[in-house]
Amino acid sequence: VDNMVQHDMEKLQETFPSFKSHYRLIKRIGEGTFSTVYKAEDLRYNYYNNKWDLDARENRWTPPPRTSSQSQSNAPPQDRRKPKFVAVKKIYVTSSPSRIFNELELLHDLRDSPAVCPLITAMREGDQVLAVLPYFRHQDFRKYYPNMTVFDMRLYFRSLFTALAAVHKQAIIHRDIKPTNFLYDPDKRRGVLVDFGLAEREGVDSKPCLCHEDSAVRKQRVRNSTSAQVGPQPGYPKNDTRPSRRANRAGTRGFRAPEVLFKCTEQTTKIDIWSAGVILLTILCRRFPFFNSADDVEAMIEIATIFGTKRMKQSGALHGCVFDTNIPSIGAQGFSFEKIMLWSTCRSDGKAQKGDALSEEEKEALEFLSRCMDLDPNKRISADEALEHPFLKIDDE
Ligand code: ADP
Ligand code: MG
Repeated sequence: VDNMVQHDMEKLQETFPSFKSHYRLIKRIGEGTFSTVYKAEDLRYNYYNNKWDLDARENRWTPPPRTSSQSQSNAPPQDRRKPKFVAVKKIYVTSSPSRIFNELELLHDLRDSPAVCPLITAMREGDQVLAVLPYFRHQDFRKYYPNMTVFDMRLYFRSLFTALAAVHKQAIIHRDIKPTNFLYDPDKRRGVLVDFGLAEREGVDSKPCLCHEDSAVRKQRVRNSTSAQVGPQPGYPKNDTRPSRRANRAGTRGFRAPEVLFKCTEQTTKIDIWSAGVILLTILCRRFPFFNSADDVEAMIEIATIFGTKRMKQSGALHGCVFDTNIPSIGAQGFSFEKIMLWSTCRSDGKAQKGDALSEEEKEALEFLSRCMDLDPNKRISADEALEHPFLKIDDE
């Protein structure tokens, strides 16, 4: 495997002849569905004024203008020895050009956003595109989530929601909020949002959905469409003549919002809030992954088990869908997040409570969770509102 990585690194340097003079590849740090990410040292870092030299047009390191104090000696300042690291994201050539362009363009639009990893530069050679980002030191989610206190969670989510507020302010939906796309450093208590490979602008490529109508209009429309049917049809209708529903379902299983599963055609930034809620549920319950579905139907079953059929039917109706199931383990009422948290942290066996009940701060976290994981995107909390919620509105120690 190491040889393969070495081989790939050499190939990358061959593809981009000027790469070697700008960057020193160190190791592979990530491999996903759409890219391979390497850690590299940026040899172009402008040590004199602590800035990256962004002369991307020339793609060549240009020496900074000399100041009088530096003209005396050519010796670089102290921090010359402190290397600057970058993350080089090699986007797979199988990604469509429009997709690659979309990712780079959105990153560019978000360049001044807090808690969003900025783009330093990008380069292309033939069909190969590289994006260069500042390297952000972080830890593996699996390592720190089991021990996070509620206070740690507040800091983590304040950082994540700061990023989301900035992204959503520009009407951009990230679409793939999950632990591996939010690089968090528990020591520095800082995180950055990465991976805009699936991101899109709200409203682009969307068609009106019932969920955006007011409820009276929606009820009337649903009534009209159901009265036209001959009667309830059990199971999947054969020779279904209805046009198939098409909607963007990009994202990661287990983190998809209910409206994504119901193929809502007018999805909003609220889908990211749901996914952030799933991260909080994971941490509170100390189970990762919390949801473990193989496909969208299973994902729907998992969500229905928590929320119950009654609320799932309402949720489906919002988008003009009928939710029906005969799975016996899915009840009408579902379970409260409090119960789920007590079970999964072994503080309750389903009947009697064992040991400690939930603390006041855990209850506050659960209240915040229920605002993020509201089945109705219209009622779900926004990132701006979340930052004002008591769970996130805290003073640093
Ligand atoms: P993909 O589209 O393949 O998921 P990502 O942009 O999510 O690509 O990057 C994949 C992984 O590479 C991340 O989960 C992270 O571990 C690592 N990574 C990405 N960007 C950075 C960065 N700026 N600093 C440090 N590590 C990074
Ligand atoms: Mg990713």
